Amino acid sequence: MTTVLAVANQKGGVAKTTTVASLAAALSGLGRKVLVVDLDPQGCLTFSLGHNPDRLESSVHEVLTGQVPMREVILETDEGISLVPATIDLAGAEAVLLMRPGREFSLKRALATLDNDFDVVLIDCPPSLGVLTLNGLTAADAVLVPLQCETLAHRGVGQLLRTVSEVRDITNPDLRLLGALPTLYDARTTHSRDVLADVADRYDLPVLAPAIPRTVRFAEASASGSTVLAGRRSKGGQAYRELAENLVAHWDSDAELKTFSTS
Ligand code: ADP
Ligand code: MG
Repeated sequence: MTTVLAVANQKGGVAKTTTVASLAAALSGLGRKVLVVDLDPQGCLTFSLGHNPDRLESSVHEVLTGQVPMREVILETDEGISLVPATIDLAGAEAVLLMRPGREFSLKRALATLDNDFDVVLIDCPPSLGVLTLNGLTAADAVLVPLQCETLAHRGVGQLLRTVSEVRDITNPDLRLLGALPTLYDARTTHSRDVLADVADRYDLPVLAPAIPRTVRFAEASASGSTVLAGRRSKGGQAYRELAENLVAHWDSDAELKTFSTS
C-alpha cells in the first residue's frame, strides 16, 4: 500500500518544499520507493530536484486536467526520488478545474493509476488554500504542517485546521493530521521554543520532533539541484533523517510519533 502525505501550509517560506525534498531523500535512503508531487506553479520543488520547469513538455498540470496519464510525466532525479513536476502552466489549472465536477479528486484519481508502485507519495502544496491544496488534502492519508518558528507563526494555523476539518467532512473523511513540524528552528535563543509553546497551547495540534534547525546548507543545496541529504553530513540533513525514521516506525508498527517538548 502507498502512504500519501501532503505537506501543507498556506503561508509561504515555511519550508514546505524543503521538507518534501529532504524527507523524500531521507525516506529513499531508508529503502522506500518515493514519489514527490510538485503542486506549486512556481515549480520550486521541480527546480530544487534538478529539473528546469521552463524546459518541460508536460507536467502535473496536464495530469490534473486529464490530458496526460500521470505515469507519462514522472521524471527521475539524482537521489532516487521520482518526481511529478510542475510548470507555470499549473497557475491556470485552478480556472480549468473550477469548471469541473469532482475537481478536488483529480490528483487522487491520477495517483490511483500508479497501482501502489510507490511506498510513499509526498505532495508539496502551494502557499494557498485553493483548489490545488484541496486536491493535495483530498488525495492524502495524512497532512504535515511545517511551521516556521517565528512570531505570528500561528497566524493562519486556525484557518488551515478549519480547511482540514472541512476536507474531512466533504472529500476525505480518513484524512489524518500528523501535526506541525517546527522548521527554521534556532536552538540558541528561547524565542523558537516560546513560539512552539504558544502554538501547542492555542491549537489541538501535536508539535512533532525533531525540530528542523536553521542552517545555511538548505539554500546551498537547493541552488545546486540536490537535497541537504546529499553530500557532507549536516545537522539539517540529520534532523530530516530522524523524522523519516520516526515516520517509518509510525507507519510500519504504529509507533507513536515523537513530539517536541515545549516545557
Ligand atoms: P515554502 O515551500 O514553504 O515556501 P521553502 O521550502 O521554499 O518554503 O523554504 C523557504 C526558504 O527557506 C528557502 O530559501 C529555503 O532554502 C530556506 N530554508 C528552508 N528550511 C531551512 C532551514 N532549516 N534552514 C535554513 N533555511 C531554510
Ligand atoms: Mg514551496
